[in-house]
Amino acid sequence: MTVSRLISLLIGVSMMSTAADAQPTADPAPSPTSAGPWTLVIHGGAGVIDRSRLTGEEDAAIRAALGRALDAGGAVLARGGEALDAVEAAVHVLEDDPHFNAGRGAVFTYDGINELDAAIMDGRDRRAGAVTGVTRTRHPVSLARAVMEKSPHVFLSREGADAFSREQGLEQVDPSWFRTEERFRQLQEMKTNKLSAFDVELKYGTVGAVARDGAGHVAAATSTGGLTGKRWGRIGDSPIIGAGTYADDRACAVSATGAGEYFIRIGVAHEICARVRMRGESVDEAADAVIAELGVIGGTGGVIFLSPDGEAGWSFNTPGMYRGQASSDGTREVAVYGDD
Ligand code: ASP
Repeated sequence: MTVSRLISLLIGVSMMSTAADAQPTADPAPSPTSAGPWTLVIHGGAGVIDRSRLTGEEDAAIRAALGRALDAGGAVLARGGEALDAVEAAVHVLEDDPHFNAGRGAVFTYDGINELDAAIMDGRDRRAGAVTGVTRTRHPVSLARAVMEKSPHVFLSREGADAFSREQGLEQVDPSWFRTEERFRQLQEMKTNKLSAFDVELKYGTVGAVARDGAGHVAAATSTGGLTGKRWGRIGDSPIIGAGTYADDRACAVSATGAGEYFIRIGVAHEICARVRMRGESVDEAADAVIAELGVIGGTGGVIFLSPDGEAGWSFNTPGMYRGQASSDGTREVAVYGDD
């Protein structure tokens, strides 16, 4: 046996051993937050969202849900809580709301089931957790967080992730909890009209949040059902750290929505933060540049972002994007259409 093989075996054993087993962290006792300024940005997906496609009632319901998500995450930050808790709280609200493609209201796979993906990342030390293809966890973002905090791993999939969720005591639901008739109809329509999963007419209803807390730390979270009609165990960008989700206190926090395959190819969320960190671009310059690059290779969608110094916003190349922003200076806005 070579020395390197022995070392890798030992590493393997220690990874499986106890659950001292939390993911390695440089900072096991993160500093408490202070009462500095905070910012929260959320999204509920991008796509062909224009005034002709939403009824007044739908428009109002979506804005109300975005507002509730801002309130939930904002309340955490306003009482001095951490960015990580804030993004999780905001995403919980959107996962429970049937208007969005995450948790309840998730899109259907080709085989007619809901398979959910989620990720979360802590900008303090770049710890991260992600899951793909889970079927029974009410709040996949919390399962991603459990992967980060209670396992030595970053990314769990399918049956294994479902089993880990049960072991961790996370809330389990019958798969019918996620089903909405509208999403099921969309699957039938897609099959009947032989639409591609990337058809520009489909909207991407993934949800996400980025936050900067009073201590200046950032975090990001994203949760989704993926794309309507996905098959063969397809995984999108949302749970892939660096593609759909990224947070780094040295640069920025990003959550994406759109045609995941293109976001993966560019590594959109990490690419934005890398430009900030290594080229000194502002986060909105970097986000616009990377979304433009996405468009060049044929990708559609958008991102929300913020930096530790409080610069925050969104960038998208679709007609609309469900989005919202709140901060300690009293800002609270939600928007739907490109010209909102
Ligand atoms: N980005 C997601 C995916 O490709 C879809 C979405 O944003 O709605 O899975």
